[in-house]
Amino acid sequence: MQKLKLAIQKKGRLSEESIKLINECDISFPNSSGKLVTAAYDFPIEILFLRDDDIPDYVQDGVADIGIVGENVLVESNKKVDEVLKMGFGKCRLSLAVPRNMQYNSINDLANTSIATSYPRILQNYLDAKNVKADIHVISGSVEIAPSIGLATAICDIVSTGSTLLSNGLKEVEQIFQSEAILVKHKNLSTEKNEILNNLLFRLEAVKRAQKNKYILLNAPNESLPKIFDLLPGINAPTVQALSKQGWSSVHSVITQKDFWEKIQQLKEAGAEGILVMPIEKLIY
Ligand code: ATP
Ligand code: ZN
Repeated sequence: MQKLKLAIQKKGRLSEESIKLINECDISFPNSSGKLVTAAYDFPIEILFLRDDDIPDYVQDGVADIGIVGENVLVESNKKVDEVLKMGFGKCRLSLAVPRNMQYNSINDLANTSIATSYPRILQNYLDAKNVKADIHVISGSVEIAPSIGLATAICDIVSTGSTLLSNGLKEVEQIFQSEAILVKHKNLSTEKNEILNNLLFRLEAVKRAQKNKYILLNAPNESLPKIFDLLPGINAPTVQALSKQGWSSVHSVITQKDFWEKIQQLKEAGAEGILVMPIEKLIY
């Protein structure tokens, strides 16, 4: 039987979350320490541990069938692969930053300056779209020190909290690209491999959906139920069971993580008591 080859980052910001998500799909594999490839025990998949920059290339060439990589790296690589699923982690942005004391009103202020970056393609696309000509200076690491050593006027780099910029005397002036980890696949997978991928996607989606939702149990006097039902759409409709206490019911439902605290407050105000909230492991519609 064929195995689907999944490339993930060997060591870095995407590694831990990638492995966690695979494990949550009930796919387990031996501790990877030092190895390049390992096979899962309980699913027809092989895991390849690579540098993130190599993943688009390997998936394009079919050395790996699928891979998890940052959209920033994928777009910059310009490799031909199919995008399958946004993973919901590894979120960051590519931004332009200039020295804190520089007057900056618009991107036009960067015309005819030099900008240091490890993302020349994404930056060039952005500058072209804004009709600004600048000299792109490609450097592979420590981009944020370029202005202070006189190498460039501005930089274009990954930002998550902005603290690195701040400590280098820079300010973020334009966000040019939003990124998160994404699952990509080789353009021509065999029927058998596609089937394994579909099984994997089914599991991944169940896990991701579960992470976005909570299971909620509460007690309420029967007269409060209509109001509570309005607040709890559930997957279909909430489950209601009579309590041994006369005139009271227990309500079970699923609510989204997004407006969670607001919902809890509203439920309390509507008369809910003894609210119990539990994580969901898998959620399949
Ligand atoms: P490798 O050794 O695999 O080449 P790397 O040093 O290039 O690793 P990491 O710093 O581990 O890469 O980042 C991997 C990816 O994580 C980035 O390409 C980006 O998509 C994402 N990411 C999320 N948040 C951040 C952040 N704050 N800084 C850098 N990358 C981030
Ligand atoms: Zn890298």
